[in-house]
Amino acid sequence: MGEALLGVGKPLVLVVEDEAALATMLRYNLEKQGFRVEEAGDGEEALMRISEAKPDLVLLDWMLPVMSGIEVCRQLRRRPTTRDLPVIMVTARSEDQDAVRGLNIGADDYITKPFSVDALLARMRALLRRSGAVPAKGQLRFHDITLDLAQHRTSRNGRAVHLGPTEFRLLEFLMQHPCRVFSREELLDSVWGPDIHVEPRTVDVHIRRLRRALNGPGELDVVRTVRAAGYALDTEPV
Ligand code: CA
Repeated sequence: MGEALLGVGKPLVLVVEDEAALATMLRYNLEKQGFRVEEAGDGEEALMRISEAKPDLVLLDWMLPVMSGIEVCRQLRRRPTTRDLPVIMVTARSEDQDAVRGLNIGADDYITKPFSVDALLARMRALLRRSGAVPAKGQLRFHDITLDLAQHRTSRNGRAVHLGPTEFRLLEFLMQHPCRVFSREELLDSVWGPDIHVEPRTVDVHIRRLRRALNGPGELDVVRTVRAAGYALDTEPV
């Protein structure tokens, strides 16, 4: 948790690449451009690092040991918590066929080796702006709620909302995926982390605290409880 909070504001990129020299070059250049970088050397490690580190974008090499880039992408698109995670496939030579296949299974964009760092950065920035996960001003907005990632502050209708660290991360996650229903297990996995074993009921406790802090007198309850399914940030009536 500490790592994620300290780095707030700088987008986190997971570089999935088995060529060590290329991974090192990418890390050097991306960090210089203000990104945080995590690395994975094969497909399985990539899936693990994605659950743990929750990157804002994945640079995914096509040819990887253990599990191919395409299989990683397919699995990411199957999971509700990573369905919208921006993915750029990196293909060797000009395997246009591969690139098309990559886009078909859900990659957002692709780039062909060898590529220039500038071309890669342009694609990454475009994708991050589009995903909205990392807005230019470091703020998330939903309805009348604003969450400032850099200052770690929340406000509603202009008044400050005081949240505990877990409620803040819970709201941040819900604001990144508005109007989507998440089960308690999905919220635990995404907000608490996959290796933290707490009861699903814990989610209810923090949702209750979040509601209490967010909802002033006469204000709409934007946290929707979906019976037998979970929770969503939504302005639809309960
Ligand atoms: Ca490779």
